[in-house]
Amino acid sequence: MRDLFRKIRKTGRVAEDAPGAPEPALPERARDLRGSLQIRHVDAGSCNGCEVEIASAFGPVYDVERYGVRQVASPRHADALLVTGPVTRNMEMALRRTHEAVPEPKVVIALGDCARNCGVFADAYGVAGAVGDVVPVDVEVPGCPPAPEAVVAALRGLTGR
Ligand code: SF4
Repeated sequence: MRDLFRKIRKTGRVAEDAPGAPEPALPERARDLRGSLQIRHVDAGSCNGCEVEIASAFGPVYDVERYGVRQVASPRHADALLVTGPVTRNMEMALRRTHEAVPEPKVVIALGDCARNCGVFADAYGVAGAVGDVVPVDVEVPGCPPAPEAVVAALRGLTGR
């Protein structure tokens, strides 16, 4: 056990170098965000595939928090909504209210093909529409589900870090 601790202390933190800072996705909002983005995630009807990739993006391998992104528990503490899934009828009002609770200026990210255009759930009886049919969308992340690299790239595009 002592050998293991010694090895950990000797090795230190090992992480790949961060790639260069991306172009800002919303240059007009960059000044408001100042390199820090607090996001509230809303699952509006996802199959949970997108959530798995979001969890990876915030995990130790991709570690998107090092670029200034944090998840918060309340929309009142958030700068942005990260919405997954098509918007189901049961979640339509909840999404509208959550959007209203986020202070201005706010950003809405539609993550995954279902959020962008209902994806594989298009025309399903329980689906009210894509995220853009319910609240205004600023950034779209394509993919079913988007890879963690795409999630990280989209969020870095907002923080500019
Ligand atoms: S985009 Fe794909 S992974 Fe994401 S919620 Fe839709 S079906 Fe699931």
